[in-house]
Amino acid sequence: MKKLEQLYEGKAKKVFKTDDPELYIVDYKDDATAFNGQKKGTIENKGVVNNRVSNYLMKMLEEKGIPTHYVEEISDRETIVKKVEIIPLEVIVRNIAAGSLSKRLGLPEGTKMAKTVLEYSYKDDALGDPMINDYHIFALGIVTKEELDLIANYAFKINDYLTEFFAGIGIELVDFKIEFGKTSDGKIILADEISPDTCRFWDAKTHEKLDKDRFRRDMDNVDEGYKEIMKRLFGG
Ligand code: ADP
Ligand code: UDP
Repeated sequence: MKKLEQLYEGKAKKVFKTDDPELYIVDYKDDATAFNGQKKGTIENKGVVNNRVSNYLMKMLEEKGIPTHYVEEISDRETIVKKVEIIPLEVIVRNIAAGSLSKRLGLPEGTKMAKTVLEYSYKDDALGDPMINDYHIFALGIVTKEELDLIANYAFKINDYLTEFFAGIGIELVDFKIEFGKTSDGKIILADEISPDTCRFWDAKTHEKLDKDRFRRDMDNVDEGYKEIMKRLFGG
């Protein structure tokens, strides 16, 4: 597998072409951004943590029957993934109120949702990723009803598997964002990443934040959350 030219550099990852037209290589950076890029910084070894954590979780989900883009981890920061056309939706699942939902609905952070909440944002940096509903999605022609049903179904299943897995290592899965993409043969699969950048993880006992909120909220020892997640997943 040859790593060819860089296709894209995002806020957290770079994407490279390979000599296989159906495969890309993603390269995870230590760069961190928040509030739609307004706050910038770096978190030591974040790229290594996110690469390993995301691959571990995608492998687990794949075994449970969720199709993902994961192919092979080739270094600390690099992974071969299936090339997809990203569906421009941020699919957000919430078990406990936090962040923008707490603000929007006036629910104190930590309030358990009586029913799991599913939200969509339109992935468009220039518009600030506005929240949209299924009517907007169909009006914009982003996906069909059947495709959105499949995406929602996957999102709830992923939530069930991940919530159970993280509970087993003493972590509450508060909320998370996932992205899906379409392969060249039209199949919808889970893409992008699942990591402390894209999930809220709280210690089940102390409720300490073990994710990017430490960076968003200018807390001390921003990298400690990432390190702790590594420790709980891989030991050491
Ligand atoms: P952003 O674009 O928000 O700054 P990143 O720095 O994480 O985010 O950049 C990675 C980009 O690659 C994202 O736009 C993401 O949607 C896209 N991406 C993730 N997985 C794949 C894939 N398998 N195929 C094509 N693009 C992907
Ligand atoms: N999230 C993300 N990328 C985004 C927006 C949100 O990964 O561009 C994740 C975030 O880490 C959290 C969940 O989605 O786990 C819900 O985030 P929220 O809407 O509360 O947004 P925020 O508080 O980040 O504005």
